[in-house]
Amino acid sequence: MAPVAAAARVRIYRIRARYQGRRLPWRVMEVRGDMSVAAFDRYLRTVFLYERPGRRSAFLREEAALYTLDPAGPEPAATVADLFRDPPDRLAWVFDLEHPEHHRLMLTAVHLPERTRTYPAVVRQNAPEYRTCACGVTPATWFCDTCGREQGMLVPLCDDCRRRDHAGHEVSRIVY
Ligand SMILES: [Zn+2]
Ligand SMILES: [Zn+2]
Repeated sequence: MAPVAAAARVRIYRIRARYQGRRLPWRVMEVRGDMSVAAFDRYLRTVFLYERPGRRSAFLREEAALYTLDPAGPEPAATVADLFRDPPDRLAWVFDLEHPEHHRLMLTAVHLPERTRTYPAVVRQNAPEYRTCACGVTPATWFCDTCGREQGMLVPLCDDCRRRDHAGHEVSRIVY
């Protein structure tokens, strides 16, 4: 157990996250300052529904990598409190260095924990704007990353079209 003095110093980091170049979706999350950078990376992977295991990711400040996370390698000793400067502070988070998905993170506030809350948690998020699959089924639940990279645009799919027309393609769950 952490000593009382250390626990008393815990601060909560309020962070807004979204994909680079897309208005939606966005999430506001609150995480403990003493959460490890590796655990924060894993949390972001769940928030953005990434299911590709073993992929490397990175936190960057102005294009320069601060920490690279490799699920198969050693974890950096740094925490969320080491990652950010005072609010407002902006970082980038890139998931999957092989096929990068760029995200923007903004630290908006640092405050004391609230007794009734558990951390980490998503505390606010956008109202969903559902995407339609080309076949007309609403909502689409997947993006085809393979076709998306070929076409240079997002390719939303329903479950049926994914199975029928995109077998073997790399797909990602759509985050609404
Ligand atoms: Zn496809
Ligand atoms: Zn469809």
